[in-house]
Amino acid sequence: MKNKLIAANWKMNLDSEQSEQLFEQCAELAKCISPTLVICPPATYLQTGNKRLANSGAFLGAQNVNQNRAGAFTGELSANMLKDCGCKYVIVGHSERRAQFGENDELVAEKVKILLDNHLIPILCIGESETQRHLGLTDSFVTYQIDSALALVDESQIHKLVIAYEPIWAIGTNKTASITHIEQTMSTIVKHLINKYQQNVVDKSIHVLYGGSVSDKNCEAILSLDVVDGCLVGGASLDFNKFEKICRAN
Ligand code: 13P
Repeated sequence: MKNKLIAANWKMNLDSEQSEQLFEQCAELAKCISPTLVICPPATYLQTGNKRLANSGAFLGAQNVNQNRAGAFTGELSANMLKDCGCKYVIVGHSERRAQFGENDELVAEKVKILLDNHLIPILCIGESETQRHLGLTDSFVTYQIDSALALVDESQIHKLVIAYEPIWAIGTNKTASITHIEQTMSTIVKHLINKYQQNVVDKSIHVLYGGSVSDKNCEAILSLDVVDGCLVGGASLDFNKFEKICRAN
């Protein structure tokens, strides 16, 4: 049985004082719960997070990375810089970046590669749109997204990988996917990964998370599913009381 992983995506929220307080609360929490905690703050708070989370057992994650090693890429951050700030995880392929910043499948694949090349753990986000769901395309779309995002890496590089299934229509909408939808789609994802990499690699090295309007109200039901190895939490991770309930669920 895999240890559950709860990742917080703070997105573009909080100021330095608020983030400092939330880091401290999460550090205390991490010391007394069993799931692994990963906190992904805005890049400007990574260094504070590195100090505040030290020795707590919680890990630091970034929300984005540039696909190049170094060079003239104004405003961007490299995998090496993120590692230097203490990051262990990096979110890639989030639907907000795909939709609002034009990140396509090829770019996501390059980002996954640069992360694994640098021994950082990708939190690869996948998920269908509302239209795709209505057309019955969910399973084929998410398996396609997995294959395209992992196209540039070989199996020997997959020491650790996180896949976050986040249906786009459930993000920030309070429209959580039904338990049946989550279970069916995530079973498809896990089966696909087993076909691709074999059972023992999936058991040992890959966490499959659910994300999309996870709250203190629905977390128990979601986390009790066998196919769910944890959650990627947006809005509710900004409210410590709610986040704590999610981390203590199950
Ligand atoms: P919400 O939990 O706010 O729906 O956000 C989910 C998400 O996008 C996490 O990456």
